[in-house]
Amino acid sequence: QLPGAPRRIGASGHIVAMSSLYETEPVGYLDQPRFLNAALLLDTELDPEALLDGLQAIEHELGRVRTFRNAPRTLDLDLLLYGNRVIETARLTVPHPRLHERAFVLVPLGEIAPDLVHPGMGTTVRALLDQLPDRSGIVPSTEQIRIPDDC
Ligand code: ATP
Ligand code: CA
Ligand code: CA
Repeated sequence: QLPGAPRRIGASGHIVAMSSLYETEPVGYLDQPRFLNAALLLDTELDPEALLDGLQAIEHELGRVRTFRNAPRTLDLDLLLYGNRVIETARLTVPHPRLHERAFVLVPLGEIAPDLVHPGMGTTVRALLDQLPDRSGIVPSTEQIRIPDDC
């Protein structure tokens, strides 16, 4: 589902940068498809809640395999950071509360925005990456997706 996401996200603004795709090796239960992760930097006029609405609409449009009932979700679009804003509402916590501890988030984010500062923690993405105990499970994917030209 990932290849269809950038064009739809780009409709909410302008895509400034997009990371490569990374594969996350399954841990523990190995008989499952690998996870693909990427980070994208969007310049947008939408407020955070409206942006979340848009991301959730895209998840609904793309994120379900419609072959059988209750098929598992196959796309997850999270709002990691919104400028230097700190947001805590019923629907939205920004920065994403688990961003700083997830190698599969910090590795792609670090590729496109290592100098972004995590408001609240006051540290750069690069510093958060350096603090990770282990990022060996996050490997570059051989698959690629492109940003469409008009995004
Ligand atoms: P995790 O948050 O650990 O990555 P998840 O992405 O699987 O888990 P979801 O089921 O996709 O969790 O989302 C649950 C709810 O989280 C959403 O309905 C949304 O309202 C809320 N939410 C809070 N903060 C954020 C955020 N920064 N980005 C996306 N959703 C958020
Ligand atoms: Ca998530
Ligand atoms: Ca989510």
